[in-house]
Amino acid sequence: MTEVPARFEPPRRLLLGPGPSNVHPRVLVAMGRPVIGHLDPETLRMITEIDEMLREVFHTANELTFPISGSGTAGMEAAMTNALEPGDVALVLVSGFFAERMREIASRAGAKVVTIGGEWGVPVEPDDVAKALEEYPDAKVVCAVHVETSTGLLQPLEELGALCRDRGVLFIVDAVASLGGVPLLVDQWGIDVCYAGSQKCLSVPPGLAPITFSPGAVEVRERRVHPPQSFYLDALFIWKYVGRERRYHHTAPINMLYGLHEGLRLVLAEGLEARWARHQQVGRDVLSALQERGFDPVPPEGYRAPDVVCVRLPEGFEDAANRALLLERHGIDVAGGLGPMAGQVWRIGLMGESCTPENADALLRAINDLLARRRRDG
Ligand SMILES: *Cc1c(COP(=O)(O)O)cnc(C)c1O
Repeated sequence: MTEVPARFEPPRRLLLGPGPSNVHPRVLVAMGRPVIGHLDPETLRMITEIDEMLREVFHTANELTFPISGSGTAGMEAAMTNALEPGDVALVLVSGFFAERMREIASRAGAKVVTIGGEWGVPVEPDDVAKALEEYPDAKVVCAVHVETSTGLLQPLEELGALCRDRGVLFIVDAVASLGGVPLLVDQWGIDVCYAGSQKCLSVPPGLAPITFSPGAVEVRERRVHPPQSFYLDALFIWKYVGRERRYHHTAPINMLYGLHEGLRLVLAEGLEARWARHQQVGRDVLSALQERGFDPVPPEGYRAPDVVCVRLPEGFEDAANRALLLERHGIDVAGGLGPMAGQVWRIGLMGESCTPENADALLRAINDLLARRRRDG
């Protein structure tokens, strides 16, 4: 390289895709504070406070609750690698892309994977899970995605948790796109392993995956004959670092943790109930405004996530060209469809700091502009 590139300046964006979401300035300031050691008593005190705040946000008393150093997918890998051994049977509820990723990771952990459902955007009924549990009495885990970001589907979990508890099966839940935005009661719903991501409804930059393990899940890990294949994601080893023993495991991303600490303070200051209500209100308003403009929701009524609005594009409304216009002219970032839905849907995220009536209005004004152009040009 003959010349050093100019300093990188990110453009101003309103992040209305399914993550990352906009970050509160207080979180960015926190992340710019000086680095201290990963075993400094003050770092460990901060981690203890993060874990305590995470227990509140997850609605759990689980001791083994902490942020994994990695994005939401690292949380998924940690859940699977700790719970599953080669030959175990894993039942996976599939309604979209991220459930398919769970299936893939469970299978890489050596599990025999059985799919329940399988149709994108269609919720799985508890009866189908009950049937699968009858058919596979040796099943070790049931896995479900709470908010399926690929389709905007909200999968009800409460009955599933009860089914798993009755049969002594571990219930693993992907709450990457729901924690801190949509009601999620880990203990009350009988969830054994639940993981999330920092960059969605918690509004912290990407890079951390909060996770919690029930006492039953800890026992499953402790009783393993072979330790998990992944050293980095072994929950018990990480706990020896962040828990009581404070023994070095890996160098925690200190400044990311500053950010999460500040982000969780903001979440708890607002209050979970108020936060859930805000997401519910803004999401509902955006969806009904989009319906008036000819965009139809993908999931059936009663199963629509408030914070990820997934809508089919009206006839003749181009996907890629309009998203490019939205980004270039209005600075607004939304996402297109994944897999079989590519080119057919938009996924609008209204998460954390991004989820405000003002941002919703800005989006709708911009979409009005795109629709007016289509009328003019078409
Ligand atoms: C975003 C997301 C993930 C993956 O998270 P990354 O941070 O991209 O690794 C997993 N599951 C769901 C439901 C998500 O929305």
